[in-house]
Amino acid sequence: MDVIVARDRADLAKAMDVLGEGRVALVPTMGALHEGHRSLIRLAHEHADHVVVSVFVNPLQFGPDEDFARYPRTLDADLAVCDEENVGVVFAPSADDLYLPDRQVGVSAGHMGTIVEGAFRPGHFDGVLTVVLKLLHLVRPDAAVFGAKDAQQLLAVRRMVADLDLDVEIVAVPTVREADGLARSSRNAYLSPAERDEALALSRALRAGVDAAASGADAPAVLAAVRGILDAADGVEVDYVALVDPATVEDLAPGAVGSGLLLVAARVGTTRLIDNATVEIAPATRADDPAGRAPAPGGTA
Ligand code: AMP
Repeated sequence: MDVIVARDRADLAKAMDVLGEGRVALVPTMGALHEGHRSLIRLAHEHADHVVVSVFVNPLQFGPDEDFARYPRTLDADLAVCDEENVGVVFAPSADDLYLPDRQVGVSAGHMGTIVEGAFRPGHFDGVLTVVLKLLHLVRPDAAVFGAKDAQQLLAVRRMVADLDLDVEIVAVPTVREADGLARSSRNAYLSPAERDEALALSRALRAGVDAAASGADAPAVLAAVRGILDAADGVEVDYVALVDPATVEDLAPGAVGSGLLLVAARVGTTRLIDNATVEIAPATRADDPAGRAPAPGGTA
């Protein structure tokens, strides 16, 4: 195996020296690597000479009743994936190496960290941003790669980079799905075969929302299309369905026009899944004007 494994920050510093000159791209993960992560690594190679993957199940981003203890930890398999994908360094520290026992200071995700997913997972985005900032400081990459699968996380990272003047390029990768639409996730490993079938309702519901928007539905009708599928699905307990502004994560107004981000979170058995899709809300067509679009508000056309 050629990949260098760094188990603590001292190892990491040595490994980065071994990599030598050239651009570095960081792919932060919690391990249990799957096709989605591979896609991040492949894009990372396009942005850099060396790819560093971090594998760290970050305790800070899990609530007390969440799945931190049972989260899949498969380091040997992850190293094999990284080796296949020509990763230069895997940084897989322990929590004790990464966090001081008397740690006090962390990053706040601000208001964006308290809404939608953040309302269901208090402190989650603060924990994510704190570990991402630490990893950026330790690895000092030129680029860092994140998945659109965790849409609100990607937005929060972009906000942190802007608000804290971080000198790193953030690269986003579209969600990688199984052939039947299920978004790849390390948590899919928790699903029984029957639950896996039930979980398909999430991507089906999002597709219904995208289709509704494409046929001219406004924001409330898009949300109703998504809700309709999820409410009718067996075994799916919805945490939220939201249609938000892709820049702020604030709910779109009923009459909003343009790009929206559809976000869903639901529990299937004991597994909590999230998924999202981008929709385009068209201006309303006027019933009395079969040929055309309503004029823009305040417009004269
Ligand atoms: P995780 O290991 O789940 O924390 O994910 C690590 C990174 O991989 C995050 O940036 C995720 O958004 C990304 N990721 C996870 N699943 C997928 C997927 N199905 N498609 C694209 N990116 C993903």
